[in-house]
Amino acid sequence: MSDILDAIRARDPWEKEFYQAVKEVAESVRPVLKRHPHYVSAAIMERITEPERIVTFRVPWVDDQGRIRVNRGYAIEMNSAIGPYKGGLRFHPSVNQSILKFLAFEQVFKNALTTLPLGGGAAGCDFEPKGKSDDEVMRFCQSFMTEMYRHVGAHTDIPGGDIGVGSREIGYLFGAYKKLTNQFTGALTGKGLQWGGSRFRPEAAGYGCVYFAAEMLATRGMAIEEQTCLVSGSGNVAQHTIEKLIQLGARVVTLSDSSGHVFDPDGIDTEKLVFVKRLKNVRRGRIREYTDKYPHAVFTPAGASLDHNALWSHRADCVFPCATQNEIGEKDAYALINNSVKLVCEGANMPCSSEAIAVLLGKNILYAPGKAANAGGVAVSGLEMVQNSMRLSWSGEEVDERLRIIIREIHRTCLEAAEEYGTPGNYLNGANIAGFVKVVNAMVDQGVV
Ligand code: NDP
Repeated sequence: MSDILDAIRARDPWEKEFYQAVKEVAESVRPVLKRHPHYVSAAIMERITEPERIVTFRVPWVDDQGRIRVNRGYAIEMNSAIGPYKGGLRFHPSVNQSILKFLAFEQVFKNALTTLPLGGGAAGCDFEPKGKSDDEVMRFCQSFMTEMYRHVGAHTDIPGGDIGVGSREIGYLFGAYKKLTNQFTGALTGKGLQWGGSRFRPEAAGYGCVYFAAEMLATRGMAIEEQTCLVSGSGNVAQHTIEKLIQLGARVVTLSDSSGHVFDPDGIDTEKLVFVKRLKNVRRGRIREYTDKYPHAVFTPAGASLDHNALWSHRADCVFPCATQNEIGEKDAYALINNSVKLVCEGANMPCSSEAIAVLLGKNILYAPGKAANAGGVAVSGLEMVQNSMRLSWSGEEVDERLRIIIREIHRTCLEAAEEYGTPGNYLNGANIAGFVKVVNAMVDQGVV
């Protein structure tokens, strides 16, 4: 196993996030490979860590001043053993091949857990939507799609939202796709309700994350009601995590964006959340403005030079990191433990560093990795694809009920796999093992391709 990790590090030493994601899975599945040596002789680890295809391309566009700008786009088609590639589309200046490979790799196992026939992929661009006009975002999306349309399709690769890609971007991308292909198909998810979208898709990752947390708490005889919660981020996943927490009677006291975090000792209620949604989704402002409207709340700027994030030092019972990768480091994990946190449930992808996870698991904190806890997002994307194929639209109640069933099933699957391989209650091992076994069995069945 260490041979594979060494080879990955030697070949692409700058791909730190990808290496981190692979190492985590590799450590979890060690007992699986020991019990099933035919996976080793089938070179499964070598194959599953190598993307089936990577496309990288130029994205030229013209800004409002008439200047030509150039960004770099990527599509990582990681694994199609159990279905067409499916994953998020990220527009953020930090996007590079390592980040998209880690997202695509995680997605392979996450999608396998959803019980839906979805392979794993990711796409994106180092474009910064913040501070751009709607027209600039539209021109950029149209240019991005002039290459991407060759690779996406309802039966090949179906991107959905991720950081920097919400309903506005999906709309522009879908419009361009339709124009270029002359086809109205479900080649993207997160579409508007009037043009092929699913009810509850915007809510799904956040709601699913809270459903997963509730299942975890129930295993220790606790409920989400009246728990004090820390949430990071203020985008799609954070907003809907907070919304569901409020609905279930929890008390949320934080929010953040890349400029810093807000602590509201009075708790964030429905009215305040409506303000946040308007601030972030319509006005596209900064989270600091929350304290102008609600002066009891305190804003703390992000300290780029610090080795910890002050957001995680507030007292709480449950923690939902919903912003980005590696936002909880080792020091933050100790801060959470010192504050008697009972649960960490990842809304974002890989928000806890490997060191932080080790600290949390060492103290027997309930910890759910993103590939299990935020799988509700891709699950409802899968349901959107089903509705598109059937050319019908399910009610909100129906989609929410299916989401709850899928999350319950993922939770049960994680616990069973963890138990079967000797680490009962370890959701990290359970998620990695269950997703891995499903995908590699399909790979073995399909031969060396
Ligand atoms: P959004 O773009 O809607 O929101 C992202 C939030 O995270 C913003 O508040 C943003 O702040 C903050 N953020 C981004 N980068 C950083 C950074 N480097 N440091 C601090 N804060 C940062 O994205 P989503 O809510 O869709 O995605 C959040 C996470 O959830 C990601 O990890 C994504 O992969 C994951 N996810 C998303 C799903 C979805 O369906 N959208 C599904 C499953 C997982 P700012 O505005 O300042 O950049």
